This record gives sequence, structure tokens and C-alpha cells, in this order.
Amino acid sequence: MKNNPHISFEFFAAKTPEGREKLKATCRELDKFNPEFYSVTYGAGGSTRDTTKDIVLDIQADGYAAAPHLSVGGDSQADVIELVQSYKEAGINKLVALRGDLPSGIGGTKQLVHASELVALIRQHTGDHFEINVAAYPEIHPEAESYSKDVFWLGEKFKAGADRAITQYFYNPEAYFRFLDDCAGADIDKPIVPGIMPLTNYHNLVRFSDNCGADIPRWLRWQLKERSDNPEDLIKYGIDVVSKLCEDLLAGGAPGLHFYTMNQWQISDTLCRNLGLPVKAL
Ligand code: FAD
Repeated sequence: MKNNPHISFEFFAAKTPEGREKLKATCRELDKFNPEFYSVTYGAGGSTRDTTKDIVLDIQADGYAAAPHLSVGGDSQADVIELVQSYKEAGINKLVALRGDLPSGIGGTKQLVHASELVALIRQHTGDHFEINVAAYPEIHPEAESYSKDVFWLGEKFKAGADRAITQYFYNPEAYFRFLDDCAGADIDKPIVPGIMPLTNYHNLVRFSDNCGADIPRWLRWQLKERSDNPEDLIKYGIDVVSKLCEDLLAGGAPGLHFYTMNQWQISDTLCRNLGLPVKAL
């Protein structure tokens, strides 16, 4: 394992007061692992624009580093610049810049702006202020023209000024390591941090994976299916599988881990402890 691997945790933009309180507790609990940031997702089509911003500012006010996601490929340039400037003025200095997807129901001629163009726009208006994270897809984005094109466009995001990529989740470390080799072959030398999705619910995972193009290996699908009516057993099994995945990734040279927490601290906490990640002294 690299010394001080990059650790970050992702939250979705909780809408209710209870959800916001739970997030505060989650931040407090996970802080012991010294995360570089907590990131907060952005709903398709700006559906969580204000909620994302409020939560990011709350996290920052509580003394933690926060990174808003900007899946703003469908917004006007002026709106994107205004949002990014407002984060800069609030002292936020990390972003996750994404194209995003059009919300369901909005079809037609609307064109999304690619993440490389967003990164270029952010750099043009705010210089080096932000550390910019972008998305990468070891198992390839579902709309990719080809494997090599997807690697090429990731390279373009870095050329536009991104500092780091965070991957879509996957359960096959071989896919990640091959992807790293292919990126290196395309002269990409920036860190590509694996995104880690805990295994907590069989049906949700299958539905979500089908949508985003993440592969659930056949053996894993069957093991999870068998436990789908027994959440306790599924979570216990999932922790074993994902701990081993993280261990293999770090042992193989991954620069760190980004956990999709689903706003729960317990499983991410167990995974980090299983990995022996350094814990802050009290
Ligand atoms: P892009 O990098 O623009 O790539 C999209 C597709 O277009 C790819 O197939 C790529 O090969 C191709 N491409 C890229 N650039 C070009 C170009 N210039 N010309 C032609 N083709 C091109 N979604 C949300 O709605 N909210 C979130 O908060 C959110 N957070 C995420 C966090 C992470 C870590 C990840 C991995 C994904 C996240 N997503 C989120 C999902 C993401 O928005 C979708 O996967 C979306 O479909 C693509 O976004 P992107 O930034 O990767 O797009």
C-alpha cells in the first residue's frame, strides 16, 4: 500500500432535515480516516443545485474539506460560471466536474457539454484555484464510441486541466489495472482513484449497474442473489468481498480509494478498518 493513500467519501444530496443531520454524524464518524474531502453529488439537470451547495457549505462550516459535484453539462455557460464563482468565493477549492446525464423526460435536441469542456471552462474562469476531479470508467462508459476513444477522452479531461480521476465502481480489479496500463499507454500520468461501492442491496445494485454500465461478475451476482432476502448476511458477505477488492487495489498500486457511502458511515468505517488505514489520534 502507498503511504497515505488518497481517501475520500461521497454523499448524495440529502433533502430532508433528518438526512442532513445523519450526514453530519457521518462526517464526524469518518473524519478519523483523514479523508482528503467529502464530495456531494449533483442531481441530473440541476435538480439538487441548491441542496448540493447548502450541504457542501455545511460540511465546510463543520471544518471538513468539501468537494461539490457539478454534473452541469446541460446548464448554460453563464449558470456554470456563476455557480463555480460562488464556490470559489465561499472558499471551496475542490470540485468533481462531470457532464452528467439528461434527466429522464428531457430528450429531443438538447446537447450536453462534455466534461473536458467543463474543465476547460472552469480553468478559464478560475485559473488554478480548484483541484478538479473528473470521472473515469475502467469498464467503459455506456455511451463510449470505443474503448480507446473513452481512454482518449479521459486524456482530454486531463489536458484541459483535471488533476485526478475517480472511477465508476467495479468489482473486477483486473479491469482497473488493465485500464491503468492503457491510460499509461496513452500518456495519462495523473492519479486514477478507484470508486468503491459497498454491497448492501442486491436489487438496487443490479438496477443501478445495468444503467451505468458497471459489471457485476457472474459469481458475485449469484452469491448476492442467494442472500437477497437476508440483508445482514448480504452485508457481511459484501464487506468481505469489498475489503478484499480494496486490499488488492491498494496492494497493486492504486493511489487511494473513493467510497460511495450512500450517506451511511458504518460500512465505509468497517472497510477502512479492515484495510488498516491510519486512524487519527484523538
Ligand atoms: P464525459 O467525460 O463527457 O463522457 C461522457 C461520454 O462521452 C463518454 O462515453 C466519453 O467517451 C464521451 N466523450 C467525452 N468527451 C467527448 C467529446 N469531447 N466528444 C465526444 N465524446 C466525448 N452523475 C450525476 O448526475 N451527478 C453526480 O454527482 C455524479 N457523480 C459522479 C461521480 C463519479 C466519480 C462518477 C464516475 C460518475 C458520476 N456521475 C454523476 C455519473 C456521470 O454524470 C455519468 O456517467 C455521465 O454519463 C458522464 O459524465 P462524464 O463526466 O464522465 O462525461
